[in-house]
Amino acid sequence: MTLTVSTIPMLADNYAWLLRDEASGAIGLVDPADAAVGIAAIEAMGGRLDLILLTHHHDDHIAGVDAMRARFGCPVVGASADAHRLPKLDRALAEGDQVAFGSTFGQVIETPGHTVGHISYFFPEGPILFAGDTMFSLGCGRMFEGTAEQFFASFQKIAALPPATLVCGGHEYTQSNARFAVSVDPDNALLRARAAEVDRMRAAGQQTLPVRLEDELPVNPYLLAADAASFGRLRSMKDSFKG
Ligand SMILES: [Zn+2]
Repeated sequence: MTLTVSTIPMLADNYAWLLRDEASGAIGLVDPADAAVGIAAIEAMGGRLDLILLTHHHDDHIAGVDAMRARFGCPVVGASADAHRLPKLDRALAEGDQVAFGSTFGQVIETPGHTVGHISYFFPEGPILFAGDTMFSLGCGRMFEGTAEQFFASFQKIAALPPATLVCGGHEYTQSNARFAVSVDPDNALLRARAAEVDRMRAAGQQTLPVRLEDELPVNPYLLAADAASFGRLRSMKDSFKG
């Protein structure tokens, strides 16, 4: 496999994602919130950064961008729809656009719901999806700006990607997502097994992301939602869930 991913943990529970193309040596970074942490990590790897990719405009995904661009001189790409509230973009992207990276490329998928301008990046060569705050393991982002119809349609797009896709979400929320998921789907044996595995991993200090799409399909309540109304209902139940 020519593309590999790893996390750079930032802030309390954010993951910036490092993307490496082994064939060309290219390094990409998704959603750097903390410039000091990001710069130290890139320097430790040899000081090469070829591209910064942004999924959406929230501070905990973009606050490190300007300082990292200044340090490494790399281009920054993000959603055209959110260009007015993102750091200066070298290229503004929309659905279906391709982003060249090393010997390969990513495809832009518009995934509104958490924010209206949210985009995700799919790299077929992985296959890898940088899902930002659209999809987490066993969950989805809060519906701050979009509608349930938009969010549901975004999840339908993700569900249609190759089952082997590695889903890289923006936060380590899996344990609390698991508690909620079990509460709404208590008879799902695969889900209960995954929840127990997540508890073990977190107790051992391990990250629960990335996760394979095929492993999420039978357990993530938002991938299992039958329609936009059910999706919206689940999302508002999660907002007030005390688990
Ligand atoms: Zn966000």
